Amino acid sequence: MKKLLPVYKNESIPKLQSESGPQHPKKSFYIETYGCQMNVSDSELMTGVLTKAGYEITNDINSANVVLINTCAIRENAEEKVLNRLEHLNAIKRRNTEMVLGICGCMAQHMRTMVLEAAPYIDLILGPDAYRSLPQALDSINSKDTFVNLKLDKSEDYADISPIRKDGIRAWLTIQRGCDKMCSFCVVPFTRGRERSLPIPMLVKEVESLVDEGFKEVVLLGQTVNSYYDGTHNFGDLLFAINQVEGIERIRFTSPHPSDATKTMIDAIASCEKVCKQIHLPLQSGSTKILSDMHRTYTADEYRELVFDLRNQIPNLAISTDIIVGFCGETEEDFQKTHDLINEIRYDSAFMFKYSDRNGTLANRTLKDNVPEEEKIRRLQTIIDLQYRISHEINQKRVGETIQVLVEGESRKSKADYFGKDDTFKTTVFPRKNAQIGETVNVKVHTASANTLIGNVTS
Ligand code: SF4
Repeated sequence: MKKLLPVYKNESIPKLQSESGPQHPKKSFYIETYGCQMNVSDSELMTGVLTKAGYEITNDINSANVVLINTCAIRENAEEKVLNRLEHLNAIKRRNTEMVLGICGCMAQHMRTMVLEAAPYIDLILGPDAYRSLPQALDSINSKDTFVNLKLDKSEDYADISPIRKDGIRAWLTIQRGCDKMCSFCVVPFTRGRERSLPIPMLVKEVESLVDEGFKEVVLLGQTVNSYYDGTHNFGDLLFAINQVEGIERIRFTSPHPSDATKTMIDAIASCEKVCKQIHLPLQSGSTKILSDMHRTYTADEYRELVFDLRNQIPNLAISTDIIVGFCGETEEDFQKTHDLINEIRYDSAFMFKYSDRNGTLANRTLKDNVPEEEKIRRLQTIIDLQYRISHEINQKRVGETIQVLVEGESRKSKADYFGKDDTFKTTVFPRKNAQIGETVNVKVHTASANTLIGNVTS
């Protein structure tokens, strides 16, 4: 195994060499991203840091001087995927001996020892609060040592670093980093540290720049995005402020926490014309006992009331969710409560998972992962089937409607078709004819599946 270079765990990060201008002309880098949109946004941030330091982005992994894998630790299979990928990358590294291979993000933070044992050839390990130190870290790489920086820094908000995004219609904007919630199943508070928010004036400016770059839609990102607080203003205030930015057409956000929903937030979704009528509202379980064991800080009834309030004020609101089945101690009765609440709320869509025990979490330390694997699989399949039926029924009701679709690009299945999303985030496919990417067109829906609406442009 390589020797570890300084771990700046409890020290301040030395000042960036990149701040004085490009230092590494012609060196190329390639970033591969796993996991959530937060990671996509962090990869854009790293692209900004490295570009400023004189590196050039490349799409050719085989010839890249630096290959960074931005990882996710939320589920076991995400980690397995990365470990398998690392073996493949090591084969490339053996051919391209000058290549620096780095692992960044939540898995790097959470499983440093395991990663090093499984992949001792790795040159660099950086946690989510250490991306500022990337150029300095790359300067320090040698063939014998692995450079590690996993310092969690609750003041690090990367406010002064401009991310570099791929061209497109939708831009992801991190408004808050870290999480203070401590759900018992989750590694995020350990991998991303404490919560911190960026100031509203800075975010408004950033959205203005996104408009100048040609983006039509912005998605505000945070682990618990609606707990946003910049010392003066809350999340509802931020929505109202961004709604004023000329040229931005749509505003979305993900993921809010049910306990942080406020009247201002609901008012903002209801009254701001650019804020899409769509919310992803993680439930996790329909059993109050399981929610309590998960440390989710709301009961099933409180969640139910919140959905009632949202729908009362925003009648056509589309709601999606996250569900975990087979959590520690989940009985058939608890599971049935989840099943029944899904049936009652009738989500537009859901991300559904079976519980996987994560090392170091509160659940891992204090609860028993005691639902048998085959039972977890059965419960998961039961709610997948239920949700599929509900999504299909909801979408069927859209047949005959004319909806406004922001055109995103060519459909995966046919070059003759375009796809885009409507206000409620439904993927819609239609013959492209004279439609242009980036414009909003009216589409009359003639067919619907559980996942997609299909129609024709009417104007
Ligand atoms: S709210 Fe809970 S699940 Fe979400 S990131 Fe924070 S600790 Fe994890």
